[in-house]
Amino acid sequence: MIDEISLRTWLALAVAAATAAVVYALSGYDGQTALATLAGLAALVAIVATTPEERAAAPAATATERPDVPVDAVLEAIGEPVLLMSGGRVMLANAAARTLLGAHIVGEDARVAIRHPAAAEHLAEGSPHPVDLVGIGTLDQRWQMRTAPLGPDTRLVHLVDQTGQHAADRMRVDFVANASHELRTPLSSIIGYVETLADEAGDEPGLRKRFLAVVFDEARRMERLVEDLMSLSRIEAEKFRPPRTEVDLAAVARETCNTLTTSHGNRGADIVLSVEPSLPAVLGDETQLSQLLHNLIGNAMKYGRHGTPVEVTLATRDTSVCITVADQGDGIAPEHLPRLTERFYRVDAGRSRSLGGTGLGLAIVKHVVDRHRGRLDIASTPGVGTKVTVTLPAAPVAS
Ligand code: ADP
Repeated sequence: MIDEISLRTWLALAVAAATAAVVYALSGYDGQTALATLAGLAALVAIVATTPEERAAAPAATATERPDVPVDAVLEAIGEPVLLMSGGRVMLANAAARTLLGAHIVGEDARVAIRHPAAAEHLAEGSPHPVDLVGIGTLDQRWQMRTAPLGPDTRLVHLVDQTGQHAADRMRVDFVANASHELRTPLSSIIGYVETLADEAGDEPGLRKRFLAVVFDEARRMERLVEDLMSLSRIEAEKFRPPRTEVDLAAVARETCNTLTTSHGNRGADIVLSVEPSLPAVLGDETQLSQLLHNLIGNAMKYGRHGTPVEVTLATRDTSVCITVADQGDGIAPEHLPRLTERFYRVDAGRSRSLGGTGLGLAIVKHVVDRHRGRLDIASTPGVGTKVTVTLPAAPVAS
């Protein structure tokens, strides 16, 4: 590229020189005027001969010069622990490395500085592959050590924090194991009863009716579980897309209460809904907000004492809309509260299953609240009852 540009400049100069000579010969200019003409024309032709791309690229030539920045300043600017090793010793360690391994490591043998058998072996072998290290820093922290040779005896050692990634992997594995277990339990029961029905029990009308009812209940349980799993994955898939439709929460709450009142026998009569007049709308996803209300009111009906009220209140608080669902029941012991929104976490698994619970209701509520940029609070007093509060930002009023 540079050769091509200078070739073009020489060509331009040659054209300018020839033009000046012609001007000189034709007009009888003196030598000085001819030289000035020559220079002016050369500049003009050189500019014309350069393409716009080349003119734009020209200043970059100075930007590619190597910056005069010391290596330790570069290492210091990196957020993760990085060490520069030479002759097996730590020559430089950035702030993150000194915090993790101790300020004393500079000058130490690298195997002593990192103090981990797998790291020592890795450094001694000079292996180019990354190695996972557990137990450096806090016990639950996981690091991946990566090394890169910089010269015959110099290496850069980089520790990458994998704790979050590892926790996410474990959660995924646990979730698949739990979901499979939850689905297998009713499935085994269905297979068992169908086999018995196919044998002698199928001939006895009373037994057949009873067994078929069990098969139906277990199949319904599987259906609820699959529906909840699908809801969760749908909400998760949309978690970074905040909903933008105005939703009238009061109307959604009335509809949900009506559905639950008619489908839950006597317990439905215990629902008491109070909505503040002129409740502002929220920007939301109506289906997901209906599911949120359904799960919270459903839980209050399930776990609250029969005959006691299930109070559902919608009110404004500052610039938010507040939904509270309160019941009077056994409540929840404080140690369980932080884990209630984990998938499949139940205080009493037997009770939840016998009441038709999937263990996913509050996990769905939490995901819906997060997607709506809201807040979820669960307060409970054992022996007295539980109050769940969801706060959602009100939709901005159109001006
Ligand atoms: P489930 O389908 O089991 O009801 P959830 O995710 O909705 O699952 O709730 C998780 C657990 O939290 C329940 O199993 C139950 O132990 C407890 N829980 C939820 N809501 C209430 C409540 N209103 N009162 C008492 N316990 C509750």
